[in-house]
Parts: sequence; structure tokens; C-alpha cells
Amino acid sequence: MVIGVLALQGAFEAHCNCLRAIGVDPCYVRKNADLEKCLGLIIPGGESTAMMHLIEAVGMRAALLDFAQERAIWGTCAGLILLAKVVENASFTPLGLLNIRVKRNAYGRQIASFSTSITIHPDITTPALFIRAPQITEILSKEVEVLATHAGMPVFVSEQNLFATTFHPELTGNLFIHNLFLQKIQEKAYVYV
Ligand code: GLN
Repeated sequence: MVIGVLALQGAFEAHCNCLRAIGVDPCYVRKNADLEKCLGLIIPGGESTAMMHLIEAVGMRAALLDFAQERAIWGTCAGLILLAKVVENASFTPLGLLNIRVKRNAYGRQIASFSTSITIHPDITTPALFIRAPQITEILSKEVEVLATHAGMPVFVSEQNLFATTFHPELTGNLFIHNLFLQKIQEKAYVYV
């Protein structure tokens, strides 16, 4: 079982360590061919504008859209921004795969970053680190399931083969969501080998 981590920019190494900790081989995805052996992909946190520029620069937009047709993708923070259908305040065109509207840097500057705990439906509590995080300001489809909220706003959503968190579970030492993503990949529809 190989899960890819987009490794062009941002907090990819922490995700790779979490994958190793749950017995999965991470693949550092830096070019289209790297995607071939991956059963799922994590798009990490970082800086969404820089990451999107790098995706375009290496010619990976179309390959990511193809990948999403049959395999699972989880975007954390900047990764969620890239997956969104609509980004209110971005100078780039997101991948547009996930039916949410997003506002970047919605909690304020870096200094307004915070750590809290969230409850994942129905009763799992995990730590959550919000680093210059976006907010999901609107859900654009009934297909989008809200798996956790913070202060009344969705912070963890799922739509078919997509997962997205506005926070960083990979920096907390808690592997619950990584395990959940692994389960999602192992569920029938996304295992294509
Ligand atoms: N503020 C960043 C952006 O807009 C996201 C921050 C993060 O990934 N921790 O890309």
C-alpha cells in the first residue's frame, strides 16, 4: 500500500512520518509519474498560492484531476484550498474538485494560529492545529458531508473520494484522521488495483 504526499512545498514530511507510523509507504510526489503507484494522495498544508504555481510549473494540474476520478485525495489546510470549487480570495484557479467555498487566512495573521480539540462525528475527540487556516464559508453540494466543526464552522468535510481538513492533524501526533483516510482508500470503490 503506497499513499502519495504532494511534495512540492509545505508540510509534506510530517504527513510522510504519520503514514510510516500507520504502516504505509509514503511516496513523495513531485512529478506526474510518481502518482501512478499511489492509491491515495495527501495534499499538505503550506502556502496555497506557491503550491498551485508549482503544480502548474511541473504540469501536474491535469494529472491531479485524472487521479481524483478514481482515487482518494485528502487536502489539509492549503491542500483543502487547492481542492475547493471556489476560493474567495485567491489569485489562482483551484482544482475545483470539492464542492465548498473557502476563504483563505480567515482567522487572521500567522499569530492568530491556534490549537484546540475537535469532535469527529459521533464521539472521537482529536487535537487540531489551525495555522493561518482557511474557513469553509459555504457548502455547495448535498454530497458534502461535514465530519467535524469548530465554533459552528465546518473544519473537516468529505465528498465521495475526497477528504479535507482546514487544520493540521499531522503536526499533533494523533493519527486518527490518517487512519480514517487509509480506511477510505481501502473501501471498495477507490481500490482499483
Ligand atoms: N494560509 C495558507 C494559504 O492560504 C494556508 C496555511 C496552511 O496550510 N497552514 O495557503
